[in-house]
Amino acid sequence: MAINVVCLECGQGNRIPEAKLNAGPKCATCGTALFTDKPTEISLDILTKAARVDTMPLIVDYWAAWCGPCRMMAPEFAAAAKAMKGKARFAKLDTEAYPKASQRYDIRGIPLLIAFVGGREVKRQSGAIPAAKIIEWASGLVQAKGGVK
Ligand SMILES: [Zn+2]
Repeated sequence: MAINVVCLECGQGNRIPEAKLNAGPKCATCGTALFTDKPTEISLDILTKAARVDTMPLIVDYWAAWCGPCRMMAPEFAAAAKAMKGKARFAKLDTEAYPKASQRYDIRGIPLLIAFVGGREVKRQSGAIPAAKIIEWASGLVQAKGGVK
């Protein structure tokens, strides 16, 4: 079995055999590591593609610099990303830089976490929560089976 993940830097789709998951796989196009222990800041275009393609759970933190609770949660989100390296990918979308995200993802307030797996939204969580809660929330997610394009 293999997993599909979009490079969060350049948007290239990558197919990784499960046996190579722990070998530090890199994007075939730009060479960026596909799995890191930190959340990646992404654009709306890349998010749209990754949310459609990724079979590994993708956890997105919708935030903005003016949002106090968002800033408070940032280190918690980063800690969760570190703890879950290889099990889920963590990304951040700046809702101020990408105002179209509000409508596309029906965002009523931030911070907002949405988990995508295998081309669909599977879970969302509104409001700031600590790292342990983020991990608990994300741990129930399983990788989508089979080849989602
Ligand atoms: Zn890339």
